[in-house]
Amino acid sequence: MSSPSKPQIPFLELLPTYAELQAELDTAVLRVLRSGWYILGAEVDAFEADFAAYTGAAHCVSAGNGLDALNLALRALDIGPGDEVIVPAHTFIATWLAVSYAGAVPVPVEVRADTCNLDPAKLEAAITPRTRAVMPVHLYGQAADLDPILAVARQHGLKVVEDAAQAQGAKYRGRRVGAHGDAVCWSFYPGKNLGAFGDAGAVTTDNPETARRLRMLRNYGSEVKYVHELKGINSRLDPIQAAILRVKLAHLDEWNARRQSLAALYLERLAGIPGLELPGVPAWAEPVWHLFVVRTPQRDKLQAFLKERGIGSQIHYPIPPHRQQAYAEMNLAEGAFPLSERIARECLSFPMGPHLKREDAERVAAAVAEFFRGGR
Ligand SMILES: *Cc1c(COP(=O)(O)O)cnc(C)c1O
Repeated sequence: MSSPSKPQIPFLELLPTYAELQAELDTAVLRVLRSGWYILGAEVDAFEADFAAYTGAAHCVSAGNGLDALNLALRALDIGPGDEVIVPAHTFIATWLAVSYAGAVPVPVEVRADTCNLDPAKLEAAITPRTRAVMPVHLYGQAADLDPILAVARQHGLKVVEDAAQAQGAKYRGRRVGAHGDAVCWSFYPGKNLGAFGDAGAVTTDNPETARRLRMLRNYGSEVKYVHELKGINSRLDPIQAAILRVKLAHLDEWNARRQSLAALYLERLAGIPGLELPGVPAWAEPVWHLFVVRTPQRDKLQAFLKERGIGSQIHYPIPPHRQQAYAEMNLAEGAFPLSERIARECLSFPMGPHLKREDAERVAAAVAEFFRGGR
């Protein structure tokens, strides 16, 4: 029954996200095909309005993908060559690449051990006269500690650009992520909590001038056709993806609630196991569990043990950005960010998603408990 290439409990399955909403999605896609309008337009405007309303931001400007959204947000805030931008040492590398791609320099800061998010206490020491912005990441679906980050940023005149690619619907102190900082950047990559069926992204902001610049920058720097105010790029949300995202946005809270209930199951079944560190949830956080990430020094053995039992898992992320070949120029040796390096060595993500069956999550938890009881 169990073939190692196709686990019985896969880490994540995307087909059920189509199957559950098939009738609505088919109708939405056909509506775009039959409209005769294939770039920007009414469908994209409608998604932007819906998503702005959902996040509580005054404006939403969509983009082609999450990396572009991050890059466009930095450029809209006039951040570029000669500038430094503070980023977490532990994140998906896109956060860093967006800074590099804007011509600025990413300056890593260590994260907190409990949440794996930017440590506000380490922020101030990384600020130099060149620092222009700080980019907290709401990693794994849990908000970074925004209040102290915003306070330090305000004190030093820095912009705050949030990477919320993994956090659609997450709340910080009772309010949804989406307009705490100067710009909040989203990815709708298929596996995200709100996922398209292709690439898609957006930026939300309360600032009308930032929104205006974003609209120009994503579309050749132009507001009026063939009049170019800025050196923009082409990074527009596909109207077919916009139509899909409108359908899926209406189900986001329900799907996030399913993730929440699976996370509660994992947290309950796995509490108190020596050698297994569970994700920390501060009192002010309402995470949406994009990923359920544990830590253990026996990570590789645990992953192999689960694989033998037909259970898929993944590592988010195995190499910190400062140890990647792409950032070799930074000359940051092993040991430069010990906690982020330890997270990379010890983290493991269990199956999680709106279509993971409760009994399968029970089986994952039972297998993990068995491993730590000495089944290994
Ligand atoms: C997915 C992701 C991105 C990039 O999004 P794309 O749409 O794949 O470009 C950026 N940051 C984080 C934290 C992500 O998880």
